[in-house]
Amino acid sequence: MLKKADFDEFKRLLLVLRARVRGDVKQMTHEALDRNDGESESKSPTHLAELGTETYEIDFALRQVENEQEFLAEIDAALERIEDESFGICQGCQTEGRSLAKSVIPKLRLRAIPYTKNCVECEQKREASEC
Ligand SMILES: [Zn+2]
Repeated sequence: MLKKADFDEFKRLLLVLRARVRGDVKQMTHEALDRNDGESESKSPTHLAELGTETYEIDFALRQVENEQEFLAEIDAALERIEDESFGICQGCQTEGRSLAKSVIPKLRLRAIPYTKNCVECEQKREASEC
């Protein structure tokens, strides 16, 4: 099981990660919406529609932002799990009725992907069932 010091370590990791992702989101949204290199600050949303051929590019950029926001949601969820101390427990293992001690996600994996909800085994099962 994870100790208080471990929770602190992963909390710090997640907060750093979140700050970094948030910075990216802000920049990408700006780039996606402001195509005229800051020529005018008063752009209405209808401006986007008038861009025509560039729409696909903008859609693509905004879709990336959407993914970033999903990413942020994962990070926030992980931070909540740290608060209620369920962090580091594999949800897949729990669903299969394993004991808490047998559902612990290895710290090595948590350091690589601190927002993960599953151990490697369960993650692979989940990915396989999604295909
Ligand atoms: Zn598992």
